[in-house]
Amino acid sequence: MITISESGNPKNSIQIPALRRPLTIRQFLVHFRRPSDYENNNVTKEYGFDWLRDEYIYPVESVNRRTTPLCTDVERLKGEYSRDVTDPIRPYGVDYYPAWLSLKEGKEATLDLEVEALEELAENATALIFESSTPHLQIEPAQINLSEILQTGRQTKNLGQTTREYYLKSQSIKITSCTGGTFAEHQQIKVFAQCGAQREEVGKLMVYHNQDIYRLNARFVQVNFKGSIHMPPRQVAGMMAGNKIDFSLDTTEMIVDNNPAYSVAPKPIGMETTISNWKRYVEDTEEKAKQKFTQALIEYTPIKKNQRKYEYRKVNVNLKKFKIGENTEEGPGINRIKRSITSISLDSIVCDMEEFLLGLREIYEEEYTDEPGVTFFLMPMVIRYPKSPGSKRIDHFDGFAEDVFNTGRYVMLANYHDQLREMTLVHEAAHNMGLVHSFTTVTEDNGRPIVPEHTFVRGTTENIMDYSLSTFSFWKYQWDKLRQDNHDLELIR
Ligand SMILES: [Zn+2]
Repeated sequence: MITISESGNPKNSIQIPALRRPLTIRQFLVHFRRPSDYENNNVTKEYGFDWLRDEYIYPVESVNRRTTPLCTDVERLKGEYSRDVTDPIRPYGVDYYPAWLSLKEGKEATLDLEVEALEELAENATALIFESSTPHLQIEPAQINLSEILQTGRQTKNLGQTTREYYLKSQSIKITSCTGGTFAEHQQIKVFAQCGAQREEVGKLMVYHNQDIYRLNARFVQVNFKGSIHMPPRQVAGMMAGNKIDFSLDTTEMIVDNNPAYSVAPKPIGMETTISNWKRYVEDTEEKAKQKFTQALIEYTPIKKNQRKYEYRKVNVNLKKFKIGENTEEGPGINRIKRSITSISLDSIVCDMEEFLLGLREIYEEEYTDEPGVTFFLMPMVIRYPKSPGSKRIDHFDGFAEDVFNTGRYVMLANYHDQLREMTLVHEAAHNMGLVHSFTTVTEDNGRPIVPEHTFVRGTTENIMDYSLSTFSFWKYQWDKLRQDNHDLELIR
């Protein structure tokens, strides 16, 4: 027990806490963050990184001229980032959500360190000490002086109603998953602030278990159309006009029944060019696709004939002389495809895409066995979709996945164009592995219920399942979900 004399006589006041104040740890938290060069075209980052981003939970970004959190249910999202955390912490009574790193054996990640000031910070002898829960994770350096981070200068971040004061030291810590040692459970790197004998736990990084690595085979199938499609005459600008696609001649033409002078000259549809564009796209995006699936510790593996050459399978869709609306009985696949087609135009087939894809699948499975992985149909021309049955409004989908459950296996790459997004292929494959759109509010697909884990404002995130201009990451809960696709993934070690 410490007694302090009324007079404040020093000889009776040994160990007065106030005298030690300059040497105590000031209050701060430490966060691991993804470096700003993560998505850089020249460097392949072979790790996944996810965290509860500020703009998801604070009203920071402006949407329709109103600042709002990008996630529609902030509390639920916070719960998500509390899940699977080993030894959760609440330093100084403040909520703390650790970031997640996924790293294959033998790979490394260089991360930023953010020190979030809960009070004014001053340079003193405080050090940050990093402690891994497994010898299979190496951290360099194992210790950093707080003053080194404070020297980067204080920054302020606007969080809507509040602000955050922080310091950021870029690429200051390297985590390596050592060769020869994987881990079957999630691991953690604890961060302690230490000053003299005083020690506080002020941060944590969760590291995703990396013992089980899965392979996702990707097969590519070149679809060839044969024969022709006739569309019966209908009213077009006061005339009765029909349409015809002749696949053998690789052309389409509008036929005006009453006045041949108004007929539109045949237009080449370029099926071969479209297929070769798709092949180039598929091959050019291979590295990106590999990198994206690596985030979930999945090895995206296109099937190849040898190290360099892709194996392209082929299916023929022989429509013979098909008239839209006509009933045919020609066997599996082709009947379904014909029934799905509602109209044609100069560059495209308008159809019920789900039915069309099922038809392709039937034709494919006549010849090839249905194997685990994702099978991509490369379509030789534009395949479109009416908004709803009978509707005049037509939608384009660059790609179209069988469904959003992990039983889906087939993808149709349906509309090649020059602005095609790099991530379309990964996005469609991920649908078949059970992921829904980041912005989805629908609760049903193909008559089966969907429970979207979380919903974000459309077009505002960098998530691969969003519709934004630049998308490149999967979230941790999506890593979990992708890895659950035991229908398509094969455990490789
Ligand atoms: Zn989609």
